[in-house]
Amino acid sequence: MTVSFSLEGKVALVTGGSQGIGESIAKALGAAGAHVVVAARGEEKAAAVAQAIAAEGGKAQALRLDVGDPASVSAAFKAVLLEHGKLDVLVNNAGITDDGLILRMSKESWDKVIATDLTGVFLCSQEAAKVMLKKRIPGRIVNITSVVGLMGNAGQTNYAAAKAGVVGFTKALAREIGSRGITVNAVAPGYIASSMTEGLDEDHKKALVGQIVLGRLGTADDVAGAVVYLASDAAAYVTGTCLNVSGGLYIG
Ligand code: NDP
Repeated sequence: MTVSFSLEGKVALVTGGSQGIGESIAKALGAAGAHVVVAARGEEKAAAVAQAIAAEGGKAQALRLDVGDPASVSAAFKAVLLEHGKLDVLVNNAGITDDGLILRMSKESWDKVIATDLTGVFLCSQEAAKVMLKKRIPGRIVNITSVVGLMGNAGQTNYAAAKAGVVGFTKALAREIGSRGITVNAVAPGYIASSMTEGLDEDHKKALVGQIVLGRLGTADDVAGAVVYLASDAAAYVTGTCLNVSGGLYIG
């Protein structure tokens, strides 16, 4: 048997695929041959990513999805099933932050982050598992967590709790559906260069990079490579793990 990273013939849904890390993941899955469903609340940006994948010769479509809204999640997965009759890969990437020190953190801020970053993963994984189990698909679920969920970060108790929750969820679900050939893994990015990090002053950037063994911020493509691997046949014997893509910022 040869090692294969090809996703030819697979249908993959990426939540939050309309920008940032999710956009890179969607494009990388498309380049590997998957038909990519680019899902986000803002359909215009999702459509632009789908068009960019198609322009490179890939297959993609945009889909409106709010991972925090059970009715929206149910409708989105129904639409995918209706059109494709299956789902092979789910990437739970949609995520938000709403930082604040504990004494100032509102219950609203706590609830908002948990609803998107943790409950959203539950809702989408449940819908994906329904399809994969019913159709006997040896599917892949890949959850984007964060090193913050593994090592903590002051000012992000809500986000760290949600992301650590995703790691526990990943391990439990991997045990639950592994016997049906479905793998469930997490990817934990470290500091990834983004519009947010671009805005930091040089001293702050230097301090961040100083903590990273590989001496640079990560890129969205660094994360996308890990996701393509976990989604592919090459990772058929990997489940319940959390792949740390932090350049050595965190070494567990
Ligand atoms: P961005 O803020 O750049 O993008 C977030 C994406 O998620 C957008 O496409 C957004 O689209 C979508 N989204 C947000 N809320 C929802 C929702 N309720 N339903 C559906 N889609 C939603 O994020 P990043 O690329 O920076 O981060 C992506 C993931 O990686 C997140 O889970 C994040 O926690 C994680 N991560 C990021 C790191 C970083 O350094 N950037 C480091 C470690 C982890 P729309 O608003 O239109 O819905």
